[in-house]
Amino acid sequence: MRTTMQHSICPSCKTEKDISQQRGLLAVEKLWYLHRLKIDPNPKSPAHPQPDGMRRLAAQNTQWFWACDHCLAEGRALPSDPTKHNIAMGTSYAAYIDRPFTCETCQCPSVFSAAEQQYWYETLGFLIWVYPKHCRSCRKQKRAYTKLQKDLMKALQNLDHNNQEQLQHIAALYAEMGLESKSSLYMRRAQNAEKKAKGNK
Ligand SMILES: [Zn+2]
Ligand SMILES: [Zn+2]
Repeated sequence: MRTTMQHSICPSCKTEKDISQQRGLLAVEKLWYLHRLKIDPNPKSPAHPQPDGMRRLAAQNTQWFWACDHCLAEGRALPSDPTKHNIAMGTSYAAYIDRPFTCETCQCPSVFSAAEQQYWYETLGFLIWVYPKHCRSCRKQKRAYTKLQKDLMKALQNLDHNNQEQLQHIAALYAEMGLESKSSLYMRRAQNAEKKAKGNK
């Protein structure tokens, strides 16, 4: 049986393709359809799936993601597993393709890679519409800063004001956080504690 030709631009390679002939898309669509059908069997429900739901989106929506067989074979795109997607309404992505974005912190151009998306949406279970706003290094820096803040709070809570080592440790934490004046304040306190300790001997 020959289906009607449906041409659309592959969002990954930007080449015109016949959607009805893309095995990868059809396979994911079938998986998605049967999965959603179990969740929403009522044909009157707005979330009830259409058997050609993914092809329809591929034909209409440039914001929605799928990839042609060529891109999937070349590894430029990864097929998705819609049964693992956390999604309330709407249609899961059929494929993951590298998505460029601008980091909100450092304004540098960054990429939300296909492999990262697969990890976020299938392993971590993030909602499928959630995406990063900050580049990897900014995310890493933020995590590091949060950890420093936690360490600092703990160190300040347990601080013995006469303990030179503890004061130096706090000074080091402040220095790492880029808080130079706080750091030198605690260095001076550490030096005073040292002098005091020597005077008491
Ligand atoms: Zn393609
Ligand atoms: Zn950044």
